[in-house]
Amino acid sequence: MILAPFELHRPETVDEALRLAAEFGPDFDWIAGGTDLLQNYKNRLNLKGHLIALDRLSDLQGVKPGRIGAGATLAEVSSNPDMRERFPGLCDAIEHVASPLVRNAGTIGGNLLVETRCHYFNQTIFWRGTKGSCMKAESDECLVVPQKETCYAAYSGDLAPVLMVLGASIAVASPRGNRTIPLTKFYRGDGIEKNALEKDELIVAVEIPEESAGLRHGYRKLRVRDTLDYPEMGVAAAMRLKGDRIETLRCATTAVDVVPQYVDFTDSHAGESLHDVADVVATEMQSRADPRKNTSMPVGYRKKMVRVFCHRLLVDLAEGRMVASE
Ligand SMILES: Cc1cc2nc3c(=O)[nH]c(=O)nc-3n(C[C@H](O)[C@H](O)[C@H](O)COP(=O)(O)OP(=O)(O)OC[C@H]3O[C@@H](n4cnc5c(N)ncnc54)[C@H](O)[C@@H]3O)c2cc1C
Ligand code: SF4
Repeated sequence: MILAPFELHRPETVDEALRLAAEFGPDFDWIAGGTDLLQNYKNRLNLKGHLIALDRLSDLQGVKPGRIGAGATLAEVSSNPDMRERFPGLCDAIEHVASPLVRNAGTIGGNLLVETRCHYFNQTIFWRGTKGSCMKAESDECLVVPQKETCYAAYSGDLAPVLMVLGASIAVASPRGNRTIPLTKFYRGDGIEKNALEKDELIVAVEIPEESAGLRHGYRKLRVRDTLDYPEMGVAAAMRLKGDRIETLRCATTAVDVVPQYVDFTDSHAGESLHDVADVVATEMQSRADPRKNTSMPVGYRKKMVRVFCHRLLVDLAEGRMVASE
């Protein structure tokens, strides 16, 4: 497929990037690795006249356990020795994103902002022309839940739930200054207005608190093909135990709703045995999942698998097994 035409700009500093954004108003997209955005451009989805590339911005580079530059590639993060030592579960989850080719180009910032997914949206312009389009593309109605208010496309990034349970925040720059947003407050319940980022804001870095390095954490992912695919369901957990007793316990899911679902179980289960509450926690995560019929696997199966994968992950983490996927 041939890309639609656009003008590419490659600023050298964040200030220059923000100036360009102000100049182009709504008619631009940021581009990092382009692994998600350019596929949508090939499909002629929501095209803009200008792309502002982030690859030359040194402020977005660098990988340290407390601060990951938004422009760091997934491969740079997961191969960093300090990250592997402090955040093995995050590195393991990264290695289950897409394929090596995509991880060499795709960035951590782009991963957090990956476009929400739906069978009626992730299609060529030819397909949309024959089957009908929806309000996330050219039309004004949703084809999954017929109405004109909300898009139910699934948030399907792998890393948001892992970073959420690690207590991560994102550092954001805009013409109005800098701000920090906890990842648990970032996503919004609409597949079009997906998150709290303003059009002229960009993510500079992902910040992980130092104390999170002590958490046992991991991620489990259900997908059609283990070689490549986006999650049909993903669940992350982080815990700190004293013996078998819970001191900290957090879980999050992806790809079973418009936004990742996050629950901090610390207050409700502190002091209890992890093995005693694992099923209660997994059942609670399942009850919060609200998948729609817009990805490959059946809705009921994706929802049931939240409980199965979550329970296995909790027990594996408690028993010191840090594996990520099935
Ligand atoms: C075949 C294939 C399989 C894939 N499988 C998976 C998968 O299994 N799991 C998964 O999570 N993802 C998957 N992806 C999606 C994607 O490749 C990755 O999530 C990747 O990390 C996106 O990063 P990028 O730098 O390429 O983003 P881009 O495509 O450059 O950008 C994505 C979006 O983020 C915005 N953006 C990027 N960086 C910034 C920033 N710093 N500030 C503000 N806005 C920004 C862009 O404007 C765009 O809207 C897959 C993609 C492909 C092509
Ligand atoms: S959920 Fe509805 S509006 Fe959103 S992409 Fe799918 S069909 Fe379009």
